[in-house]
Amino acid sequence: MLAYPARLDLAQAPTPFYALDRLRAKLQDQGLNVPRLWVKRDDLTGCLTSGNKVRKLEFFLADAKRRGCQTIITSGGIQSNHCRAVAVLGAQLGFKVHLLLRLDSQPHLVGNLLLDQLVGAEISYYSKNEFQQLDQLFDYWHNYYADIGISSYCIPTGGSNEVGIWGYVAAAEELQKDFLREQIVPDRIIHATGSGGTQAGLTLGCHILGIDTTVEGYAVCDDADYFNTKIMYDINTWSSVNQQPIDTDKLKVETNEQYRGPSYGVAQPEVYQIIKLLAVTEGIVLDHCYTGKAFFGMLEDIKKDRFSADDNLVFIHTGGLFGLLSQQNLLDN
Ligand SMILES: *Cc1c(COP(=O)(O)O)cnc(C)c1O
Repeated sequence: MLAYPARLDLAQAPTPFYALDRLRAKLQDQGLNVPRLWVKRDDLTGCLTSGNKVRKLEFFLADAKRRGCQTIITSGGIQSNHCRAVAVLGAQLGFKVHLLLRLDSQPHLVGNLLLDQLVGAEISYYSKNEFQQLDQLFDYWHNYYADIGISSYCIPTGGSNEVGIWGYVAAAEELQKDFLREQIVPDRIIHATGSGGTQAGLTLGCHILGIDTTVEGYAVCDDADYFNTKIMYDINTWSSVNQQPIDTDKLKVETNEQYRGPSYGVAQPEVYQIIKLLAVTEGIVLDHCYTGKAFFGMLEDIKKDRFSADDNLVFIHTGGLFGLLSQQNLLDN
């Protein structure tokens, strides 16, 4: 048993885990050499709190409570799934939530942003330029609340640090049970990587639990060097904070930077085709920002014969539906 820190029970878990056999058959009909494809439905960790972030927030919000903080400050893009999950959980648990949002685009009241407002989060908007000094923005607001006698708790963008990492260490433990039940040995676990916390947690979790597999994060924004450095840093910090020595030579961080598309939040047209394909074939909806890019990349790699037909590929569906719902015009064509 792993010695978990304080944790709130927030995610609807275990989430479903099953094989995408209709999609596989469809791809085989195209003459492709298709591995067995599995999906972990972390888009079903809740309704308003759905997606991967709630797993990390079980640990952050327990920590905030333990420290007696009444206000949560966190940051992200204008359609951040993470910020929406924090905003909703704040309303559910009685925290005031203050979001620092980057103006990637006009702040239309749709998707995640609509929900942020609806549940009463306070929002400060910053240009991309101002957002470069994010640490200073956090300091400013932290001090602002301290001056009026309120202790605040800061969660970094995406909830990716040595606290949030626990969320996907716990998910790795859940996956281990899924693999046992289905009697499979996963050759590869694939997921979208954005701020690195999911990748760090799965990589670390598989390592310490002895799950013999490769975790591969498909990048949606930054390059492989960025993720490899960020993830090793967070794992090393986790290791020293928790006094858990890690044999980092044996721990492999794998990032695929081939399918990032034009930029963060902007997907290649092929990604929308894949979103439609999976929706029609399996009734599963991916998003354009994260999971669609990763799933598209995985299918491209299948076409390139990177895997063999008896491999088991496990795709982690990390959510993103509300962000997709801000994209209706792009889905039309
Ligand atoms: C945040 C997010 C990711 C990426 O997870 P990180 O831990 O930030 O790398 C993937 N998919 C969705 C839908 C997300 O909201």
